[in-house]
Amino acid sequence: MKPLRYILLGLLVFAAGSLGAAGLDDYKSLRLPEATRAAAGTNRVTVMFLGVATLLFDDGETAIMIDGYLTRVPFAKFKVMAPDDAVLKKHLARAGVGKLAAVAAVHSHFDHALDSPRVAQFTGAMLLGSESTANIGRGQGLAESQIKVVKNGDSLLYGKFKITFLTSAHLPSKFGLGQITEPLQFPVHGEAMKLGEAFSILVENEGRSYLIQGSAGFSGSELTGRKADVVFLGTGGLGATAASYQSRYWDAIVKTVSAKRVVPIHWDNFYLPLDVDLVPAPGFDKSMDALIAFGKKDEVEIRLPVEWQWTEPTLGLK
Ligand SMILES: [Zn+2]
Repeated sequence: MKPLRYILLGLLVFAAGSLGAAGLDDYKSLRLPEATRAAAGTNRVTVMFLGVATLLFDDGETAIMIDGYLTRVPFAKFKVMAPDDAVLKKHLARAGVGKLAAVAAVHSHFDHALDSPRVAQFTGAMLLGSESTANIGRGQGLAESQIKVVKNGDSLLYGKFKITFLTSAHLPSKFGLGQITEPLQFPVHGEAMKLGEAFSILVENEGRSYLIQGSAGFSGSELTGRKADVVFLGTGGLGATAASYQSRYWDAIVKTVSAKRVVPIHWDNFYLPLDVDLVPAPGFDKSMDALIAFGKKDEVEIRLPVEWQWTEPTLGLK
């Protein structure tokens, strides 16, 4: 993008952000109820949403994280971004993260994978993702023994968690296409954090199943035959797409896995820090209205996550 386009995009994000707070309030009744964090031996799985597609899963014995994007680089630093260790440590402490078994990146754009290797380093986790994600880790000095490159269909077991990677697609966009083919040296321009491979990630634990769709894209039939009780559905950019695209996206993801509940994610303005209440990005209302209509038609519950709160996303499902 040209500099002027960055500036215009930034203004748009902030202008819409300041109006958007009321938008979130409009959907208060859809919030997932707060739960206590799962303890060992309770046969529960609890999830904490930390903005964009960052999700912390805990069954009381094992904890895993999707993405782990916590630095939330301000827009002014888009061209010279790097993980901020102080911010990362502060937020990991607030979330009560000690040891993590794995950090799995949905794809390698900055708003997903910038911090994944540092989170792995701080928590002892394995970094799971595409070769591009691995090269972000290598550039940040993560040991090769803590990196696992995954491909379509790969499943990994951590305690009672089974994490399966399924090839998906990104929301159609020209941003940061391609692969990261060698260790990435930081700081980097945001566009150097290229997509790599986009995955749908299926998390299963003792009969419960959760699909994490980090980006509002879909490809062929990779999800056919897969089931998920709950879909954490990426909505970034969805509000700006055509109604026919939104409907195909819903069918390709939510209907294919026969989900009973959808939890929209990736709706917040990720240029703002996690210290303040999340502010919806432009298009939030439009994507929510579309999802609510699809949910009504197909009898799928739509529930919004609240940042920093433990929730039990499968609670009450038959
Ligand atoms: Zn992306």
